[in-house]
Amino acid sequence: MTSHFVPPANYTFPSVYMNGCNREFKSSWLKKYNWLVYSPSLDGVLCLHCAIFSDNRKQKGALVNRPFNKWTKISSELADHANNAYHSRAMSASKLFVDCINKPELTLPDRFDTTRRQRRVENRHILKMIIKAILFCGKQCIALRGDHEEMSGMGNPGNFLSLLSILSEHYELLQRHLQAPRDKSAQYMSPQIQNELLSVLSKMILNDILKEIRKAKFFAIMADEATSHNDEQLSLCLRFVDEGKNIREEFIEFVHMDNVSGHSIATAILHSLDEKQLDATHIRAQTYDGAAAMSSENVGVQKRIREVSPLAMYSHCAGHCLNLVIVHSCKIPLVRNTIDKMKEVCLFFNYSPKREGLLKSVISKEVLHAEKRKPLLNLCATRWAERHSAYSHFYASYVYMVYSLEVIATRIRAMITRRETGLPRQSKMHLGCWLPLPASISFCPL
Ligand SMILES: [Zn+2]
Repeated sequence: MTSHFVPPANYTFPSVYMNGCNREFKSSWLKKYNWLVYSPSLDGVLCLHCAIFSDNRKQKGALVNRPFNKWTKISSELADHANNAYHSRAMSASKLFVDCINKPELTLPDRFDTTRRQRRVENRHILKMIIKAILFCGKQCIALRGDHEEMSGMGNPGNFLSLLSILSEHYELLQRHLQAPRDKSAQYMSPQIQNELLSVLSKMILNDILKEIRKAKFFAIMADEATSHNDEQLSLCLRFVDEGKNIREEFIEFVHMDNVSGHSIATAILHSLDEKQLDATHIRAQTYDGAAAMSSENVGVQKRIREVSPLAMYSHCAGHCLNLVIVHSCKIPLVRNTIDKMKEVCLFFNYSPKREGLLKSVISKEVLHAEKRKPLLNLCATRWAERHSAYSHFYASYVYMVYSLEVIATRIRAMITRRETGLPRQSKMHLGCWLPLPASISFCPL
């Protein structure tokens, strides 16, 4: 009743050819009649109260049972509707309904029925626990669902239901709700409800972020488009200084793109800001990758944004710059060869449990708290800047890898010697027994 669609001030209503010219709905009608609502999907208007609370609705037509869209006759139609007796009755019923929902404790049935009051308190408590479980999974980036959407029976019920199951061991109310719900059609645990609650939570979080940005007044935009599952998505982030003087970068949304020209991307960014009631003239900086569609001074996104906000300074995204610098540096033969060798060494250890086991045993002999050692990482194929952690893990293990390679080399040399001298082959020798052999190895630093 209260959160229906309200067209923003600059909303463009579709034009329809009618009685010799193009006509469209005007937002001034919404201001004049506060019971009127506009449906963008139907391009028509309805009376909010009559559409839901009207009596004898079979005899009613447009505005009640179907949207009204004959724009040439709208003035007289709305004036007539406002004077109808059934419209007044529907308005009263609607007000009563909203009051009952907002303040149920003031309604007569509720005042006399203590059981009903108690049940409402309990239901709200259960719903809070369900929401907290969903919020916990969301915050920790834990997938909610498993392969079996029931707590009983075989299969994995997923993290969300499992978490509720653990919580229910300590909350009798939740336990009763899980084991014997009062209303089986209102358990609030289905995948659809999980998605709806997640969507509501995300809107609340986004609204809080937007409030902070509006308070900060000035902000910068960061955007990049990427293809995911044949779907072009534009990720939009905003950077601002919050009340605590902290520089914040917040993700705002993914915008679906049909076209990735500079004009389309800039329009999508401005539309998104407008939807969120952020003033585009307060943009003070903008940063994207170096693609022409984004960075061009003539046709790029930056030019279009500067038309709206001339002080929105453009800079090439530092993250993308770093990536490009690393990509170009890696073309230098010395660096390229080093990376190739590093890749081979990582593969040599990572793809053999035996060799990885040897490396682990070398480290456990040499290093205290060896269990905290970070594993060797494969180099990231696309984000070059992310390779830093792979290099640092490699560097930390470098000395022990040399040691392990020496152990392997010594073992091979010993096998060759035995073969040449005709001694019987020792089988299944434990790796650890080779460790004392290369005791005199001196490690050279990187
Ligand atoms: Zn009405």
